[in-house]
Amino acid sequence: MSTEAVAVSAVSDAQQHTPSAPAQEKTVEKVNLLGMSRPQMEKFFEDMGEKKFRAGQVMKWIHQYFVTDFSEMTNISGKLREKLEKICKIKAPEVVHKNFSKDGTRKWVFRVGDGEGSLVETVLIPAEDKTGSRKTLCISSQVGCALDCSFCSTGKQGFQRDLTQAEIIGQLWMANYSYMEDVPIADRERSVTNVVMMGMGEPLLNYDAVLNSMRIMLDDFAYGMSKRRVTLSTSGVVPKIDQLAEDIDVALAISLHATNNELRNELVPINKKYPLEQLIAACQRYIKKDGNESARKHVTIEYVMLDGVNDKPEHAQEMIKLLKDLPSKINLIPFNPFPHAPYGRSSRNRIISFQKTLSDAGFVCTIRQTRGDDIDAACGQLVGQVADRTRRAEQWKKKIAQSNEIMRSQG
Ligand code: SAH
Ligand code: SF4
Repeated sequence: MSTEAVAVSAVSDAQQHTPSAPAQEKTVEKVNLLGMSRPQMEKFFEDMGEKKFRAGQVMKWIHQYFVTDFSEMTNISGKLREKLEKICKIKAPEVVHKNFSKDGTRKWVFRVGDGEGSLVETVLIPAEDKTGSRKTLCISSQVGCALDCSFCSTGKQGFQRDLTQAEIIGQLWMANYSYMEDVPIADRERSVTNVVMMGMGEPLLNYDAVLNSMRIMLDDFAYGMSKRRVTLSTSGVVPKIDQLAEDIDVALAISLHATNNELRNELVPINKKYPLEQLIAACQRYIKKDGNESARKHVTIEYVMLDGVNDKPEHAQEMIKLLKDLPSKINLIPFNPFPHAPYGRSSRNRIISFQKTLSDAGFVCTIRQTRGDDIDAACGQLVGQVADRTRRAEQWKKKIAQSNEIMRSQG
């Protein structure tokens, strides 16, 4: 159950059982409706003694018209609006920094708690391709990460806390709102076309909040996004992959990074708990849930290329064997170094020959494009350079370039 829902019952209890309700209301935190999925909001309205269809109406105001003031919700009675005003709020996380660049990239730094470390970033990058215009948003799910992958600077920061549903969906809300701020409410539209859960954190370790947030992304009363355009990336929390298969239909990306257990134990320590055989089997089960309309026709395999570590011809051969029964598309990611990183980036030639081996074996294999002038900027290094804003912008550009590559390979 979400923190929001818990807060809801706290409010209801205070109102129902306390004789001096008005005095109590001042001390009770208002419930943030921004992060509620439709079932959660329907329950909220029913608990208030209201009809549950109100939930859909309010969700449309919030997520399609970007309204945060109840008085602007014109199809809701004045009495209910007043009631909502008293006990609820619609509040995205606080923006402490934003940067809209000329090339269309938009970046936000959100404060999600006290202190310098409680910042998360979200980046949107537009792209044109054969499927048309795209705006891809890279969303964070946690502050820091507990999984400590050896090539990832987010992991090096350790885990601080999970983001709430309102903080996760708030990143998407803010990105959409940024295009509509000056547009009259009636003419507002949703702009973000793709979401990748590839920001800070391991999304499957903040499962409920991430799941409900993705439900809001897909909900026609909210963002109505295509399930193929919402991608969850995981380093391999096997039981949660199975749970995800039961709970929602979205695209899945796996951070593989090694083709044998010995090496993967070193690079992606969660492999010690859920080794490769279990991970690949879980991916196969995820795909088996396929329907004609499913987002699960294949799994995207992310593979960061570490010089002399996982980029040799024998690793490509191992990958061919490992993935032979798994419908997959492979995305090779040139490693983005960060200070004190124990790895270097594989040479361009090494990456190309790795790709060729896989393509020759019949795999769709793409290389994430990088620019030569920002090679010290890094994907997955977000928190490590919190104080260095210039670098962070470059890191995020690379992160999104990687995401776009994945979306392209998904067609
Ligand atoms: N925790 C999830 C999602 C966030 S990481 C996961 O691991 O999948 C998003 C992607 O960035 C992952 O594929 C991750 O392995 C990759 N990444 C992390 N650090 C990187 C680095 N220094 N260079 C290139 N890719 C990196
Ligand atoms: Fe966490 Fe993903 Fe970084 Fe690993 S790569 S430490 S799972 S954010």
